[in-house]
Amino acid sequence: MNKKTIDQVDVKGKRVLVRVDFNVPLDEGKVADDTRIRESLPTIKKIIAAGGKCILMSHLGRPKGKRAMEFSLNPAAQRLSELINQPVLMAPDCVGDEVERVVNQLKSSQVVMLENLRFHPEEEKNDPAFSEQLAKLGDIYVNDAFGSAHRAHASTEGVTKFLKIAVAGYLMKKELDYLGQALANPARPFVAVLGGSKISGKIDVIENLLDKVDAILIGGGMAYTFFKSMGEEIGNSIVELDKVDLAHSLIKRAATGKTKLVLPSDSRVAEELKAGVKTEIRSNRELRENDTAGDIGPAAEKEYAEIIRKAKTIVWNGPMGVFEIAEFAHGTKAVAEALVEATKAGAVSVVGGGDSAAAIKKFSMEDKVSHVSTGGGASLEFLEGKALPGVVALNDV
Ligand code: ADP
Ligand code: MG
Repeated sequence: MNKKTIDQVDVKGKRVLVRVDFNVPLDEGKVADDTRIRESLPTIKKIIAAGGKCILMSHLGRPKGKRAMEFSLNPAAQRLSELINQPVLMAPDCVGDEVERVVNQLKSSQVVMLENLRFHPEEEKNDPAFSEQLAKLGDIYVNDAFGSAHRAHASTEGVTKFLKIAVAGYLMKKELDYLGQALANPARPFVAVLGGSKISGKIDVIENLLDKVDAILIGGGMAYTFFKSMGEEIGNSIVELDKVDLAHSLIKRAATGKTKLVLPSDSRVAEELKAGVKTEIRSNRELRENDTAGDIGPAAEKEYAEIIRKAKTIVWNGPMGVFEIAEFAHGTKAVAEALVEATKAGAVSVVGGGDSAAAIKKFSMEDKVSHVSTGGGASLEFLEGKALPGVVALNDV
């Protein structure tokens, strides 16, 4: 990674303003899943251990620029306090005189959580005056919020115009190392597994990965737009008619390029995609009018698993089927298992995308792959080959 990290700055006695992603799910005023908080612990603990003053800022939910206390970061601060075993002060807001007073009274190794950045509409507008107010709270800026790095907001981008020392935290570094390494310098074979409901969200990923990877394995709902473009019957399976031509051109591009674009050779279908339905297996030329495809079939599972097991680098984005329903979770699970096996055999495996991450957690395999990205949208944009504004803004080495 060509960006400076927290290891390259001396935080002792300094006010360290850290953008974290504590956008955690809440349930009755408590943190329902603290994964995102735990992911930033290495950065927070490092600042505490090195005698820095730790000032945390984040967004949570969509308060739409208003002070809506159901989106307060107080529950996250409480949970963090339990995890680091020391008090975490809760600031009344994220900017202003009162907040400045709290921050300027901090002692070394103390931690304060600022209130939700999105209580102010200026955050998402990347407003310069608001960015400057945030910048006043720190001597050093650290960005550990990979999940927000694809957005040029005040706390991810604007603030760096006023705070000249701007470096990556450990989570940010980890994300960029895994994703960057996979794309820039992959051990081969390099295989991408792409699924999810729609092709439209993944077109730029497919285009960026064509010619970079050795094979793209397609699953999920998007496969049926490809089949449609080949003139196949797809029944009531999900399709984007306005993307059929594009799907056709991607197939043609792959045919002449060096990347194999693989479509599932069979599908698991039902009359409806709901729990408890009777499912059947159809090879991809045999779908019928009343079929809705909800998953890849067993032949595709076997083929994909074999390709994945032989790979040395695997990037997976998008489930193979409607994994939320047990009847259609098998293909996604088979791919996850193959990723685990490949990882055991020395491959680097990276899972990106919110639903893919949820799927691998559901199967309790998240610790058995090399890296599960915490940033759905950000990892997608990274795989699309786009520069992330929150990363670009950090100091180069
Ligand atoms: P990610 O968040 O990992 O990038 P997406 O958001 O693109 O993934 O897609 C996830 C969704 O795709 C899941 O909710 C899943 O139910 C849905 N999906 C997968 N296969 C199908 C299918 N055959 N038909 C309809 N929806 C599907
Ligand atoms: Mg999703």
